[in-house]
Amino acid sequence: LRRNPGELEFHQAVREVLESLGPVVAKHPELLEHKIVQRLCEPERQLVFRVPWQADDGEIHINRGFRIEFNSALGPYKGGLRFHPSVNTGIVKFLGFEQVFKNALTGMPIGGGKGGSDFDPKGRSDSEIMRFCQSFMTELYRHIGEYTDVPAGDIGVGGREIGYLFGQYKRITNRYESGIITGKGVEWGGALVRNEATGYGTVFFLREMLAARGHSLDGRTATVSGSGNVALFAIEKLQSFGAHVIACSDSSGYVVDDDGIDLDELKQVKLVERGRVGDYADRRPKAHLVERGNVWELPTELALPCATQNELSGRDAATLIDQGCVAVAEGANMPCTPDAVRAFAEAGVAFGPGKAANAGGVATSALEMQQNASRDSWSFSHTEQRLDEIMTNIHRLCAETAEGFGAPGDLVRGANIAGFQRVALAMDALGVI
Ligand code: NDP
Repeated sequence: LRRNPGELEFHQAVREVLESLGPVVAKHPELLEHKIVQRLCEPERQLVFRVPWQADDGEIHINRGFRIEFNSALGPYKGGLRFHPSVNTGIVKFLGFEQVFKNALTGMPIGGGKGGSDFDPKGRSDSEIMRFCQSFMTELYRHIGEYTDVPAGDIGVGGREIGYLFGQYKRITNRYESGIITGKGVEWGGALVRNEATGYGTVFFLREMLAARGHSLDGRTATVSGSGNVALFAIEKLQSFGAHVIACSDSSGYVVDDDGIDLDELKQVKLVERGRVGDYADRRPKAHLVERGNVWELPTELALPCATQNELSGRDAATLIDQGCVAVAEGANMPCTPDAVRAFAEAGVAFGPGKAANAGGVATSALEMQQNASRDSWSFSHTEQRLDEIMTNIHRLCAETAEGFGAPGDLVRGANIAGFQRVALAMDALGVI
């Protein structure tokens, strides 16, 4: 705490992992002796930089850019960029720390990193977004590379932003290096399914959690928070498995649709018009917006928090449990507070932690890197099949690890221990670096 003052989310993420590790370090005392845990908690490199840009009205703005290169024991740093006014060092470090374990769980050769800016893209024109991305990359380009650090998208960074970022990299370096960033458009080096991967992957993981208890998704009611990249494609996959998605949200409130969420309409509002969930409600006969409402007050069997960190509190968890919730899968990173996670465990609710449940996005980014390296492109169905296998394997790994360490069904512990083992043993093999 003394070393990282004020970095609340980072402390929370580290504490959550460390609480699980007692039995592993008891099994591998050399990891303690070699100070692997202390080394894991210290990023290999932290970059903070100025991002100046000019708005359409001529005003000059100065934002702060971040890239935390957290751990490269298993491969080049890999993790997204977040553009949101709440971004600070503590947020980027928590995300980078989580990413290290998540990436290890995928079994792919990728280390962990994360970055972003306190820039607020809301209400900005296309040309403002472009100028901001160009300025951001004008510093970032010297730190990234196919073998060094490979960014991607996160909150506020989608296909449009990745395009502007890649364009500026290409322009500065005069090199068409597709492998320096993932989440690219399929026409210019991107991979099919990357867009859908985090949301789809979360639902594949949820399907496995339910199957382990002899249940399925078919006919279940589901609530999804957020209405961005992860939420939209989680809704799509839930519906394809026969679940009835009743509500979603954004920072203005939540929308309930008694007919079930109409995904085409929601995509039109969110992806094409960049509108708010209220615009969706206005177009649907049996939908209404609850302005500033908390989506977790609704009764639902399945809860998928897909918006942001600490969005689902202990009190929300108690409400969900009272109203019959049976499973929670974290599409977002650390959306449930520690109180909420504890409440779900005590109530026997199946719980998929983000570092396992939402790993499908980064896993598919690694598949994009594979396709870039071999100058190949795979079909949608082949790539989705790979994603499904990866998520099924992650679930199995977490469940078996939990069982092996005396905590059957505790996927939080299973994910933390399994991810830690992979990274820690690799770090130890590489010596004191
Ligand atoms: P998007 O920017 O596409 O969507 C984010 C959604 O969450 C929006 O609906 C947004 O509403 C809402 N939201 C964001 N911040 C807040 C807030 N403070 N309060 C209320 N609502 C909020 O981001 P993604 O879908 O990409 O990311 C969502 C989560 O998933 C994040 O935690 C991210 O780290 C995680 N994740 C994303 C991956 C990916 O591949 N994209 C991979 C793995 C995890 P509004 O527009 O009103 O702000």
